[in-house]
Amino acid sequence: MIRLITYTFISFILLNAAIFAQIYVAPNGNDSNTGTIDQPLATLQKAQGLASAGDTVFIRGGTYNFRQDQISRVVSNLFACVTYLDKSGTEGHTIKYWAYPGEKPIFNFSAVKPANERVVGIYVIGSFIHLRGLELTGIQTTIITHTESYAIYSRGSHNIFENLSLHDNVGTGLRHYYGGNNLFLNCDSYRNWDNVSENKLGGNNDGFGCHPNSSGTGNIFKGCRAWFNSDDGYDIIRSGAAVIFDSCWSFYNGYSTSFESLGDGNGFKAGGYAYDPASKIPNPVPKNTIEFCIAVRNKANGFDSNHHLNGNYWYNNTAYENNINFNMVNRESLQADSSIWENGYNHILENNLSYKAGSSDTAYIDTSKNILSHNSFNLGLNISDKDFVSLDESELMAPRKADGSLPDINFMLPAPGSSLIDAGVNIGFAFSGKAPDIGALETNYPTVVKSLKNILPNNFVLYQNYPNPFNPITNIIFKVPYTSNIKITIYNSLGEKIHTLIDELKNSGTYKIQFDGSYLPSGVYFCRMAIHSNKLNVTNNSIVKPMLLLK
Ligand code: CA
Ligand code: CA
Repeated sequence: MIRLITYTFISFILLNAAIFAQIYVAPNGNDSNTGTIDQPLATLQKAQGLASAGDTVFIRGGTYNFRQDQISRVVSNLFACVTYLDKSGTEGHTIKYWAYPGEKPIFNFSAVKPANERVVGIYVIGSFIHLRGLELTGIQTTIITHTESYAIYSRGSHNIFENLSLHDNVGTGLRHYYGGNNLFLNCDSYRNWDNVSENKLGGNNDGFGCHPNSSGTGNIFKGCRAWFNSDDGYDIIRSGAAVIFDSCWSFYNGYSTSFESLGDGNGFKAGGYAYDPASKIPNPVPKNTIEFCIAVRNKANGFDSNHHLNGNYWYNNTAYENNINFNMVNRESLQADSSIWENGYNHILENNLSYKAGSSDTAYIDTSKNILSHNSFNLGLNISDKDFVSLDESELMAPRKADGSLPDINFMLPAPGSSLIDAGVNIGFAFSGKAPDIGALETNYPTVVKSLKNILPNNFVLYQNYPNPFNPITNIIFKVPYTSNIKITIYNSLGEKIHTLIDELKNSGTYKIQFDGSYLPSGVYFCRMAIHSNKLNVTNNSIVKPMLLLK
């Protein structure tokens, strides 16, 4: 009996040790409440005081209109921080500040205007902190000389910034400085422009900045988007450690929303040190990685090495309509006159796609000093609009998926038959088909083996649909020479099955069926006829025809 009681007691202790607290914050909360779901707090600042490693602070949906008297701390007599997160979690037990599932908390800082101070919405200096699902807007600038306010100022390590929306701030979206091993995941930063200080052109306001010192390794941006920021989309001019950009998009930077010219306007400004003297340059100079990224219609360069003192790794990026799509300009050396622009060196560019640059596809590339392989601009591919399923730039701003990841787009996706498909070189990333495609978006069309006609008896016929293009109904006609099972399926341009039209035995004859695309968006679709028959002895038994739905 005693043993049983002891066992039960220990189990009770162990069970409770694994349960972390949930603390609630709501727009109608009060910091004198207890922080339960029924008695929510008003601020993250109060919630931090109650939280321990492993706990979750759930932030309810709605708008939080911050007041100036809610500034939690002024750092260095300069940075007025509304929220100051300095309590750290531990490895495996982050402190989570998460939007309540299914809800959208909006932090509006437009009423916070302290004189002679820079405003920071959330200042993160702790580590093992995870922010998710917050929208930060309305950060103000009051200083009219050189200054910079920030929606988020990140100075910690091992933090995760996920699914944050930083927009319409009179300042920078997110600036990271100092720490390492941070993940910036699926965040959007847009329409940020300080039109108050200096010349009012917002030359300091990037969507995302990342400038750690040389110990700040392991910072990664993945699935982020930056657009209409007054300076650059992403800027790592003073990063002392290598930064990775993976599957990030950057467009319309350097412009206001009416395309007035503002700041620098680079999609990805990858290095440079702004002509700093040798004493300020890290040794070795880091080599940054930019892969599967898209840069569109940025004022200056899509992808810019920005007088860096080393080469970067540029893999499978897509650039369209930037003034210069890929600018590999380097600085000659630490000792050299920093105003001399030198042809790029030590860069590796593979599988990149450049199309319709404003002035040129590339600049400052000396092919003898860099490794260039399988880029559209050195393969000599003759690319036209027909090579792409869509050139509709608005797809870049489409809503994210429910899990926060980037939307699926047809913009700059190679069209069926494009010479971009399988034209890349295998550099270790996953791909479909025989080889990687050129650019950021890999196609996965239903495969048509070119020798198929030789294998499948040619008396099986799938005719081209008519009308084509169609809207919304088209006719599909096929011929069957002897009794066979016929399955006709419609796929979209991503290779996803949309609809199965028939899947049944058909006797010898010619048949007509209709496909109604009234519920589908415009785009390229594929009609696939798969044939099974005892008489057939082939491995690939299908015929595919592309169809174009135009609404
Ligand atoms: Ca910048
Ligand atoms: Ca491929």
